[in-house]
Amino acid sequence: MRRRILKLVGQVLSICTLDPNTHDGMHVAEEDDFVASAVVYPSSTEEVQTIVRWANEHRIPISPISIGRNYGYGGAAPRVRGAVVIDLGRRMNRILDINPDDCTCLVEPGVTYFALYEEIQARGYKHIWIDVPDIGGGSVLGNAVDRGVGYTPYGDHWGMHSGMEVVLPTGEVIRTGMGALQGNNSWQLFAPGFGPTPDGLFSQSNLGIVTKMGFGLMPNPGGHEAYLFTFPREEDLAQLIEIIRPLRIAMILENVAQLRHVSLQVGLEGKPRSHYYNGKGRVPDNIIHDVAKKLSHGDCAWLYYGMSYGPPEIRKYKLDIIEKEFMKIPGARRIDPSTLPADDYFWVRDRVASGVPELEELRWVNWHPNGGHVAFSPVSPVRGKDATALWDIARRRCEEFDLDLFPTFVVGLREMHLIVEIVFNRDDSVMRNNARASLRAMIDDAAKQGYGEYRTHLAFMDQIASTYNWNDGALLRFNERIKDCLDPNGIMAPGKSGVWPARYRGRGWEMSAKNETSEGSGVSPTAGSLKI
Ligand code: ADP
Repeated sequence: MRRRILKLVGQVLSICTLDPNTHDGMHVAEEDDFVASAVVYPSSTEEVQTIVRWANEHRIPISPISIGRNYGYGGAAPRVRGAVVIDLGRRMNRILDINPDDCTCLVEPGVTYFALYEEIQARGYKHIWIDVPDIGGGSVLGNAVDRGVGYTPYGDHWGMHSGMEVVLPTGEVIRTGMGALQGNNSWQLFAPGFGPTPDGLFSQSNLGIVTKMGFGLMPNPGGHEAYLFTFPREEDLAQLIEIIRPLRIAMILENVAQLRHVSLQVGLEGKPRSHYYNGKGRVPDNIIHDVAKKLSHGDCAWLYYGMSYGPPEIRKYKLDIIEKEFMKIPGARRIDPSTLPADDYFWVRDRVASGVPELEELRWVNWHPNGGHVAFSPVSPVRGKDATALWDIARRRCEEFDLDLFPTFVVGLREMHLIVEIVFNRDDSVMRNNARASLRAMIDDAAKQGYGEYRTHLAFMDQIASTYNWNDGALLRFNERIKDCLDPNGIMAPGKSGVWPARYRGRGWEMSAKNETSEGSGVSPTAGSLKI
C-alpha cells in the first residue's frame, strides 16, 4: 500500500521521503505511530486542487501543514499513518500584500513570522508591528488556523484574521468574507462578509486546506516598556490571579499575561536536569530554589512578565497601577531592567512582546537528552480557586509519574490557559510512556472539574474531543455530519481534532489510555464512495 502511494505521488509532484516533515520530531507515542508515506510540495492553489482530486480518486488520506513545526502538538506528522503530507510552506511562501495604510497583510502558508517581520522592515514600514508567538520560525497562517497565540495586544492570532482562501476536500476553492465578492476591495478589512461565516470550520479542523489568509497588523504604539515582577511563595498564586483578572479585562495589563513558575526559569537556562539532580522523581523544590537564587531575578516562586505600550506618560499611568496592585503580595519585587545583562531572558520577552521574532523559548527541552515535550493546556476562568485546582492536578499527576513540570498561567482576556510543559527523553520508553499517561490522567481529572484543553498533540485529540461531551456528545456528532458532507471520501486529515470521517468510524481508530495504537482496523470499503 505504502509503495503504491509513493509511486502515485511521484507521478504528480516532487517527493522527498527524507524530509523531516514526514514525522513528529517530538514523538510522545512510538516514533512510527504518526508518520507520512510521502510529502508533496504544491506551488499554487491549482496544484493543491489537483492533489485533492487525486486523493479522492485513489482514496488516499492527505494532511496539510504550512511549515510543520507545531512543536509539542505533533509537528508535521499526520494523524493517520501513511497519509500524504501536503507541505504548503516549501513553495507557497509569498507575501501577497502588506497594506501600510490599513495595517493589513495577505499571506500564503509558507510565510514565517521572520519573513513577514523582515519584509516589513525592508519596506521601511516603521509604523507597523506584527504579533509573534514564542517561537518565530513557524507559519503566520499555520499558527493562526491552529489557534496559536502571541504576546502583543494582537496576540489572538485567529481573532485577528480577515479573509481566507480554502481548497475544500472535494477540490473546489472558496474565499470567505468579502473575498467572496468578485472584485471586492475589503477582503482584509471585514472578516464576516455576508451571511453565515464559515471561517471557524477551517480552524483546528480537517475540512479544508487554507491557501491564503489575511490579518490585521498592529500599529506601532509609539513606545514600549517590558517589566518583570517576582513573587516569593507558591501559595501566592490564588491572590495573584485575583489581582490579574480585573487589570487584564480593563486592559491595564495590555498583553497576554504570563505568570511563570520558577521551575520554567531554571529550565530556560538550557542545562540538562542531570546538571542539578540525579535522583528519581521530581527535582526537589529546594534544589530549584537554590538555582533560582543565582539567576538574575533571584529566588521566587512566580514571575510575571508584562509589557506596557504607548508614550512614556501613558505607560507611567498604567505601570503605577500595576505596581500598586502587585506589591500587595508580601515580598513582591519589581526587577529593575537596567540591572539585567543583554543576554538575560527578560530581553527575549521584551522582543517577543514588541513583535520581534525569537527562537529562544524551547531551551528547556534540553532538560532531558533527546528531549521532546507535550503540554497540558486547560482553559479556566481567571479565578484563584481555578488556578489552584489546576495547579493541584498538574503537581499531583507529575508527582505520581516521576516527572518535572514547567508551568505558566497565560491569561488571554477573560479566560486563562494553564500551560504545563512536560519534557521527556524520547528514547526512554518508560519516561515517554509516563509523560503520555500523566497527560491522559490530567485531561480526565480536569474534565471532571469542568476544564477542557484548547489545543493538543495528535495522540490526545480523541480523548479531548470526548471530554467536550455536553448533550451526549452533540458537538462531535455535528462535526462528524459536516465532515461527511464536505469530505464524503474522508480523505482530508482524518482524525484531526478527534473528528473521523464515516469510513473510519466504528473501527477503533480513536486513541485513549486503553488503546494507545494509532491505527484502527482499516477503513470501510463501502462508506464514502462518492466520485468527485
Ligand atoms: P507551524 O509550523 O507554524 O507551527 P504547522 O504548519 O505545523 O504550523 O501547522 C499547524 C497545524 O495547523 C497543522 O498540523 C495543521 O493541522 C494545520 N494547518 C497548517 N497549515 C494549514 C493549512 N494551510 N490548511 C489547513 N490546515 C493547516
